Formats: sequence, C-alpha cells, structure tokens
Amino acid sequence: MHFLQNYVGGQLVPPATGQYLPNIEPATGQVFAQIPSSDATDVAAAVRAAEQALPTWRQLPAEERGRLLVRISELIERDLERLAQAESQDNGKPVSLARTVDIPRAASNFAFFGTAAQHFASETHFQEGVALNYTVRHPLGVVGCISPWNLPLYLFTWKIAPALAAGCCVVAKPSEITPYTAFLLSELCMEAGLPAGVLNIVHGTGLAVGQALVEHPSVKAISFTGGTATGRHIARTAAPLFKKLSLELGGKNPNLVFADCNLSEAVATSLRSSFANQGQICLCGSRIFIERAIYEPFKQAFLEGVAALTVGDPQEIATKQGALVSEAHLTKVLSYIELAHQEGGKLLSGGQRVQLAGRCAGGYFLQPTVFEGLPPECRVNQEEIFGPVVTLTPFDTEAEVLDWANSTEYGLAATIWTRDLTRAHRVAHALQSGIVWVNTWLHRDLRTPFGGMKNSGVGREGGLEALRFFTEPQNVCLKL
Ligand code: NAD
Repeated sequence: MHFLQNYVGGQLVPPATGQYLPNIEPATGQVFAQIPSSDATDVAAAVRAAEQALPTWRQLPAEERGRLLVRISELIERDLERLAQAESQDNGKPVSLARTVDIPRAASNFAFFGTAAQHFASETHFQEGVALNYTVRHPLGVVGCISPWNLPLYLFTWKIAPALAAGCCVVAKPSEITPYTAFLLSELCMEAGLPAGVLNIVHGTGLAVGQALVEHPSVKAISFTGGTATGRHIARTAAPLFKKLSLELGGKNPNLVFADCNLSEAVATSLRSSFANQGQICLCGSRIFIERAIYEPFKQAFLEGVAALTVGDPQEIATKQGALVSEAHLTKVLSYIELAHQEGGKLLSGGQRVQLAGRCAGGYFLQPTVFEGLPPECRVNQEEIFGPVVTLTPFDTEAEVLDWANSTEYGLAATIWTRDLTRAHRVAHALQSGIVWVNTWLHRDLRTPFGGMKNSGVGREGGLEALRFFTEPQNVCLKL
C-alpha cells in the first residue's frame, strides 16, 4: 500500500497527526493508497515554510521564476503516461481523457504562466507637466489554493502556476478524494529544483486542512474551486479577515440549439458537453434546449450517440464513460434520477447503475441518462447534479429560451448553436453567463477570463486576471 506524504519546506513529510485516510479507486471500489489526514498543525508548518521562502522567491526576476515553471511543465509532459494512469485510477475517468485533456493541460498551465509573468507590465499614466503615475504590482505574499476532484491536476495547477509566477508562495490543498497526482507533482517540483517552501502541498479533508488554511491569518488570499455551498462557507470565514477571494463554483449550464445550426456538429459536441468525464465538469451543459422545428431529429441523433457511449473500465481504450468519483456521489446522482421520475420526466435513455464484471465489479458506474418532459423550473433543471444526466426541452422563441436559460441561480457557462451571426451575438450578450461558446464547447484559450456570474463564483481566473488576483497594486504619483 502506498502512503502519500505532504510536501512541506521542500521535503516529503508525514502528517503531524500520524493519521491517514483511505484513497479509493472508483472503478473498483478498492483502497489503493493512503493519504495524510493532516490538520491545522501541518497547515501552520506549511505557512511557516512559505513565509521563509517568500523574500527570496518574490525578488527573483520573473524570467527565473518562469524558467522553473517551464521546467515543471516539461517534467509533466515527460511523465504524461504515468500521470494519466494515476489520474484515471484516482478519479475513475477514462485514461484516454486524462492523456489528452487533464495532463496536457496541467503542463500548459505551468508553461503558460511561466512565460505570461514576463509580459505582465506595470501601467503608467502620464500627465504632461503635471504628474507621472505608475502602478507597481507586488506579489500578495503567502496564498492558499484549494481545488476539487473532477479535474484534479488540471485545476490544481491552474491555481498554483499563476500564484507562483506572480511571486507568491503557496500552500495548496488538493481534494482528499483525488490527491494522487498532486502528490506526484510534489515529486516533480523537487526534481525541477523549485526552492524549498515556495510550494507546499498539504493533504486532508476540507474541514481540517481547508478550513485551517482559510482561517490562517498569514494567508493573504484563497483561490478556491468547488461547490457553491463550500464557497459560501469560505466567503463567510474569510470576510472578517479581509482576505482576497477567488471563487469558482457550481453551474447548471444551458445548451441552446437553434433550428438553423449545423445539426451533426451540434449533436456530436452536445454528446461531449453532456457526458465528458461522466458529466462531472463544471462546464458541462446539462440543460439542452432545442428549437421545436428540429427537436425530433436532434433527439433521435443524440440518443443514437448516447447508445454508442461505452461504459467500461477506464483503463480500456474503447471506454467513453468511466466511473463516477465515489459511492457517495453515485448515490447523489441516482437520487436525482429518482427525482426526475417523481417530477414527471420521461426517461429516454439510461437511468441505471451499471454492474461490470471482473476487476471493476465493485465500481461506481452509471449509464449516461437522458430525460425529456421536465419543466425548466423543476429541481432537476435548477440544481447542479454534476453527473451524466441531461434533460431535453423544446422551445419556440428566443425570448422563451433566454428566460429559461437564465432562470437558475448559476451563471457559469452556456453554449449556443446557430449559423445566424447576429443572433449568436444578441443571445450571447443576453445570457447571464461568464463564459459563452458559439458552435463549440470547452474550447479554451488560457489568456481569456474564466469564471461565473451569480452563484457560480466571484472573480475571474485565466491570463492577466489571475496574475492581477495574486498581486497587490501600489500606485506611485510623482509631481512633475
Ligand atoms: P467541494 O466544495 O466539496 O470541495 C472542493 C474543495 O474544497 C476540496 O478540496 C475540499 O476538501 C475543500 N473544502 C471542503 N470544505 C472546506 C472548508 N470548509 N474550507 C475549505 N476548504 C474546504 O467540491 P467538490 O465536490 O470537490 O467539487 C465539485 C464542485 O466543484 C461542483 O459544484 C463543481 O461545479 C465545482 N467546480 C467548479 C469549477 C469552476 O471552475 N467554476 C470547476 C470544477 C468544479
């Protein structure tokens, strides 16, 4: 049995508690590693290590910090296969997805911010004969990064890389449900020669480690991705401490399919946006609204596509649908399927747990599930399910579909399918959504602002927004 360790002050160390938590492989239901069950003592040691590293790290030229981040990116690329296998084992996602999306993106996160920090210039405002103002952006100091289980290394590095690039030192906590690649990252950081204490990784539960990190007075900011309820709790805890917060929270994303779209592309991409990673991506479009004129052809083609989504062992190349992340999450998603029946939905496909044979007999597999006939205001269409469950709903007018699309408490991402450019822009601007894709989905340019409106979050990640978040502006005004 592998015992993971914390990464504190440049060393791999056991938790102060001496306690460990089981790490379960979702495809088998078996424990495959033990993770440190750390507490506030470990967080305090990590913050001390980060504080010690800070004066040197923040003064390094951006080029030198960047060189180290690019080196970490190269090591992730070198170990792509090992990391993809680990991510798949830990999360239940198909190894093909981890190999093509999760791990390459983790490498890109370090490469992107390693170089972006070198182009992050100060602003000056010059009033001839009056004054010169220039704005310096100082690293915030020691910051905390807390990430979820659905895209483990991808989202963990999406926070850590800009923080380090900006000159901050970091105490990071991965999800206790999927800690494995974060542990492998600590080994790669040691190999890359990242100075001791610049990045510290403390494993454990949200209530013990996450809470201690949010409460620690020396931690200047928290960058958090996770559920809206947890985000609300963090905001409540951090507000009296005047910590800077970036909150990337839940979603209930609409997918608007107009009759003039390219139907085959809309269907193919909607299958991905519904079921990629077993629907466990915050950007998945779980409410599909289809203009009535093409409702039947869309439905037929979509259901044919769903029937071809093989549920199986995530390690097998033919597998399109792996396991859900945990038994508790599977139970939650099944309860929403039950609710969909109670709310009067008509089941078009799936709806059942899948029992595989052999190695995966104890795994948490679920059929990709499609319902129709559910009103937009019902709970299944309002609450985040975060699993492979989508609803199909016909619409008649643009105003009607916009009303429904905007009717939830969330506002993370939306997708529009149309060939009418004017409509695409009009609808995009009317959607209460931080991210809008037109005729595509999950197309990401790391320079763009990323984040949600309403209860989907506060602040934006990505590009210069992330570097701004991890820095404190100081304006200097010189009289001329
Ligand atoms: P979660 O909120 O349960 O946990 C997220 C992280 O917060 C974990 O590391 C957890 O240990 C930690 N945590 C829990 N309680 C804490 C506390 N009191 N203080 C500090 N940290 C605490 O979320 P999850 O179940 O891991 O992830 C799924 C959720 O994440 C979904 O709602 C999904 O939409 C959201 N998500 C959002 C985005 C985005 O970019 N907006 C991306 C991915 C996932």
